[in-house]
Amino acid sequence: MSIKIEHLNYIYSQGTAYEKQALTDINLELPAGQFAGIIGHTGSGKSTLIQHLNGLVRATSGTIYYNGENIYAEGYSMKTLRSKVGLVFQYPEYQLFEVDVFTDVCFGPKNLGLPKDEVEARAYEALRQVGLKEKYYKKSPFELSGGQKRRAAIAGILAMQPEVLILDEPTAGLDPRGRDNILDQIALLHEERKITVILVSHSMEDIAKYVERIIVMQKGHVRFDDKPRQVFEHYKELEQIGLAAPQVTYLMQELKARGMQVDTGAMTIEEA
Ligand code: ADP
Repeated sequence: MSIKIEHLNYIYSQGTAYEKQALTDINLELPAGQFAGIIGHTGSGKSTLIQHLNGLVRATSGTIYYNGENIYAEGYSMKTLRSKVGLVFQYPEYQLFEVDVFTDVCFGPKNLGLPKDEVEARAYEALRQVGLKEKYYKKSPFELSGGQKRRAAIAGILAMQPEVLILDEPTAGLDPRGRDNILDQIALLHEERKITVILVSHSMEDIAKYVERIIVMQKGHVRFDDKPRQVFEHYKELEQIGLAAPQVTYLMQELKARGMQVDTGAMTIEEA
């Protein structure tokens, strides 16, 4: 699978007093198997952009190709697209509603019309992938901790076996340990399954530890799009657009500690 976005524009409430251009001329290509991060300030257009990728939001203008096929072409199945592009919303645990965790994770594949055996096999596999222990499978989702609920919700999307997994702020509201756990698990999943993962975050720290490419959004535009190292070289501009300097400094140190050469320009990095 690959995704190609061409000249995408999106305007909320077009033609009303509330009209708001949320995305302006977005051009991106996401090759299969990539682990990409989308970062930007609140309101920069991250959520709007990812909702285009599984057809939840329809572009005001521009085109999106999934595997070379125009998703806006007549007869293109948005239902199929949605089963291939799994989108984990912010606070996905609010969408857990079945009697127990296992039944909840089965919901998606069951809806695909798969036989019971296949549905259950997928649910077990997905729950294993998110690292949720078996003792929780028969519990009500409401008995789980915040981090566990989050895992169960992600498992529900994984059970659909998507080709692309998009996570919108998957660590929002979790404590630092829960945060690292979830992100480690996602990184492992990417390694194991080789699926494309798009991680949306406003935290450069979360993003840069894991991804191989960073797309920086600013006011509805793609401001930078490159390997982390290259993006960090725009340290000054990143600071200007509200991506806190200490985080960037920390990441530069991380990269240096890993033996990567970083051109720091005007910034100073202390020896690790
Ligand atoms: P992010 O995910 O980066 O926080 P969003 O995609 O949610 O950004 O928002 C992009 C812009 O679109 C913001 O200016 C936001 O206020 C606006 N916006 C988002 N959702 C709506 C909506 N339902 N109606 C009108 N404007 C919206």
